[in-house]
Amino acid sequence: GPAAPHDASGEQVVTRALTGLAPPARPARRWTPRRVVAVPAALDHPHGRRIVDRVEALGIEVERLRANRLTGVRGDTDRETYARAKSTLAIVVSPPSRRTLQPIAPSADWRVDLAEGCPAHCQYCYLAGSLSGPPVTRVYADLDDILANLAGYVGRGTVTSRRAARVGEGTTFEASCYTDPLALEHLTGSWRRAVEHFGAWDAPVQLRWTTKYADVDTFLGLPHAGRTRVRFSVNAAPVSDRLEGGTATVPERLDALRQLALAGYPVGLTIAPIMPMPGWREHYGELLDRIRATVTGIDRLDLTAELITHRFTPGSKEVLLGWYPRTRLEMDERSRRRKHGRFGAVKYVYPSDVMGDLRAWFDRELAARVPAVRVLYWT
Ligand code: SF4
Repeated sequence: GPAAPHDASGEQVVTRALTGLAPPARPARRWTPRRVVAVPAALDHPHGRRIVDRVEALGIEVERLRANRLTGVRGDTDRETYARAKSTLAIVVSPPSRRTLQPIAPSADWRVDLAEGCPAHCQYCYLAGSLSGPPVTRVYADLDDILANLAGYVGRGTVTSRRAARVGEGTTFEASCYTDPLALEHLTGSWRRAVEHFGAWDAPVQLRWTTKYADVDTFLGLPHAGRTRVRFSVNAAPVSDRLEGGTATVPERLDALRQLALAGYPVGLTIAPIMPMPGWREHYGELLDRIRATVTGIDRLDLTAELITHRFTPGSKEVLLGWYPRTRLEMDERSRRRKHGRFGAVKYVYPSDVMGDLRAWFDRELAARVPAVRVLYWT
């Protein structure tokens, strides 16, 4: 039900299962991995060595592996494997296949990965259906090559850059498909370098990412040239309080959005996953009012919104139930509409009447309460 206690969050369940201790009152805002490993190939790259130095400077030991294969992350049970993997950071080289970028409409023209995996514990996690194997967080040592490779994609926009709401953004690159950048930046420095790379780039390009963290201090003084749009993923309190573990709070994320906007960055909101919980109009109304207060008095505000309703696939449901067996997330096929996505994959979305109500409400209320916002898409 909507009044589920806060301790339903995956983070705390995992902590208890592992240590038998009561969970901390507030989850840590900066992730400290329990184990950090580096594969030998990562140390051939200057950025790999920079990550090692940065992690060690934080007082965390880095295990140098002998082979380029990750071992020791599987436990005796799925939960144990999950808990171990989620607390492990691996410094690796990106798979060669990643040099060929994939289009990623409607979020951006192209997807670029600087890492894969995320230390947070959202019970609806988007990664559940897309990544295979234990959810270890992997950060890429070959950052310089990854960034240099993007030059070949400039001007090769896909559908998103031709839409009216996107004109002027150039070719867009999405850097958070498989990870949460601000969760990892203090350990890697990767996204800071990416912001500087785009800032110095003499071409119409934009770097974009979405985050549920709020660690933006090190981005405020960067020469970003307005070419990075950071979006903060936000939700109504019943969703963020019950289903998101280990992230920054929504007020913290909004405060970070304000700081970046004041530093001249274009910013955005990813309102997701939208869920029609009891009282959703009031709960989302409170969120929109909070957003309005956040962006009040910012000169030259450039604010977008992406609106995404909750959906799941048979595969993501199975993975999520393995990770969070006691979840209260509704994933009931009978209360959903079956939809066929790309390549015929099945996904479960809300029925058309529910979708219509949600969409009409958000269209009306966003325009009324946050008139500065440009909506990029609804899905
Ligand atoms: Fe998954 Fe995103 Fe939550 Fe990380 S922040 S656990 S990637 S949904």
